Amino acid sequence: MNSFDAELSSRLESIRMQGLLRQLRRVESPQSTRIELDGKSFLNFSSNDYLGLANEPALKEAAIKAVEKYGAGSGASRLISGSLAPHCELDETLAAFKNCEAALSFSTGYAAAVGTIGALMGKPDVVVLDKLVHASIVDAARLSGARLRIFDHNDLNDLEKILKWADGIKGAGAVAGEKSQVLIVTESVFSMDGDCAPLRPIVELKEKFGAWLMVDEAHSTGLYGANRRGLAEELNVSERIEIQMGTLGKAIGASGGYICGSRLLIDLLINRARSFIFSTAPVPASSAAATAGIRFVQSSEGERRAALLQKNIVAFHSGFRQQAPMFPSAIVPIIIGDEKKTLAVAAGLRERGIFVPAVRFPTVARGTARLRVTLTAAHSEPDITALLEALKTSNLD
Ligand SMILES: *Cc1c(COP(=O)(O)O)cnc(C)c1O
Repeated sequence: MNSFDAELSSRLESIRMQGLLRQLRRVESPQSTRIELDGKSFLNFSSNDYLGLANEPALKEAAIKAVEKYGAGSGASRLISGSLAPHCELDETLAAFKNCEAALSFSTGYAAAVGTIGALMGKPDVVVLDKLVHASIVDAARLSGARLRIFDHNDLNDLEKILKWADGIKGAGAVAGEKSQVLIVTESVFSMDGDCAPLRPIVELKEKFGAWLMVDEAHSTGLYGANRRGLAEELNVSERIEIQMGTLGKAIGASGGYICGSRLLIDLLINRARSFIFSTAPVPASSAAATAGIRFVQSSEGERRAALLQKNIVAFHSGFRQQAPMFPSAIVPIIIGDEKKTLAVAAGLRERGIFVPAVRFPTVARGTARLRVTLTAAHSEPDITALLEALKTSNLD
């Protein structure tokens, strides 16, 4: 073994010793409530395909048609010659769906976060994050070069304390001739805990302090609100949020990320978001599938699927632990704590034909390893019962 591989081998061994080694599993089937892993079929509670759209005929047909008309590849960044009709149509469909002036799609949600925070914030600025925001937002904030502050999860007092501090240094920045802006970023439904942010009081705080607010609706787009735009719609605060972000890879059933907001925000991103400018446009098939996914969500069948999901969430909670959380989302964390023990419980479930991922550091903090159950509209009543039965006989303490 050469010295490079020897070094990597020792690093991997240290990861393995901590119960943190990750390996890819080959899936031989489409995303669905049943997946085939390494040649065996499992009941699947791991997918973020909340409405069961990833393998929906309408999305597949849209992708196939786009391939036939526009080909397999996009050829260039959208600013060079790659801004194909399916990309433009997706942006227009997104803006109409979210009831915003304009929208911009990115190749992933991760790219949307990195491009947007980097475009808006820089050295003199302050980015304030909820402690549990997704890694894409943490990376985005770090890359922007802005000062970074973290408030305790959903803690409005801690957030206010930081905003007061930022207000103080704003004055100091002005003396140095620099204008300093504050951006708060939070998620609407948190990806590993399944709880939701108190968006209304956060909006009130950011208005009080003249900060900007970015909300990542990755786990709520397509699910909440009268038009299924997300939690901001449900709580009636959409118009007071400067930057609405989300992914097209979860409930929407395709792939990509988006930013919605004012026309000026989108024009600035087209000029300044490096992950948008310096990256080949998504393949036409993925944008066309995302457009079809949004249209599906807007349809009466989309409404029916969202209601089915809620029904499954209620059924799971009432069978699992008596008390449903204040905000029951499709993500149910079962926190075990120890990494190796969590792996053992997940392995036990797989032996019974049920796939629930064990989520560990660095996705969550050390010592808070958990099973992350995700429910979808496509699960049947017997599916939920099978999971509940298997959990009853697992050692979750
Ligand atoms: C999945 C996710 C993202 C990233 O979106 P991708 O399209 O998968 O890159 C961003 N934020 C949150 C909260 C997510 O769960």
